[in-house]
Formats: sequence, C-alpha cells, structure tokens
Amino acid sequence: MNHDEPKPMEILQNLEQIKTPFYACTDEHCPNRLNFDDYQGLVLEFIKAIDEEGYFGTDFTNYTYTYKGTRHKIKAKILKYSGSEIRIGILNTTVLGIKK
Ligand SMILES: [Zn+2]
Repeated sequence: MNHDEPKPMEILQNLEQIKTPFYACTDEHCPNRLNFDDYQGLVLEFIKAIDEEGYFGTDFTNYTYTYKGTRHKIKAKILKYSGSEIRIGILNTTVLGIKK
C-alpha cells in the first residue's frame, strides 16, 4: 500500500541482509515489507475482528486496522474480502519511517 494502486508482494529469503523469508513489495525500489511473525500476527488480529463482528453478512472490504509487532508497526487495509479470497494491503510504517 505504498503506492497509488496497491502492488502485489512476493516472498523473498536468503538476502545478504535478511536471511529469513519475508514478504517484499514487487517494486524493487520500495522498502515496504512484512516478516512472517508480523504476517501471522496481522492475520490473527483480523480473525479477531471477524470473530467480534460475526463471520457472515459482514463485508470487510476497506476495513482498516493497525498491528503492532515486536519491532514493526503495520497499517493494514482489507483490499478484497470474499468467500474464496482475502487480500490484505499493508504499510510497514516503521520501515518506511512514517510517523502517526
Ligand atoms: Zn511497494
């Protein structure tokens, strides 16, 4: 979500600086990223929100929330929510140096 139109992310690993797998933006100049611990926490936080609202009848498209991991603060937005697919846009405000 570091772009006007959200770009897909891909899993990278074994880089010189980061060995463990993580989601990286497919724009090579964009530092937006998400490690697997934060990915898991981010998804669990969303599941909690679905639990509170009830599974059925609620369209979570455009739902936004913030996840605070141990090192990174991630802003999340549900880009697509259907019975077969959920797409979550993320903005790693810590890595991108965004205050707020
Ligand atoms: Zn990006």
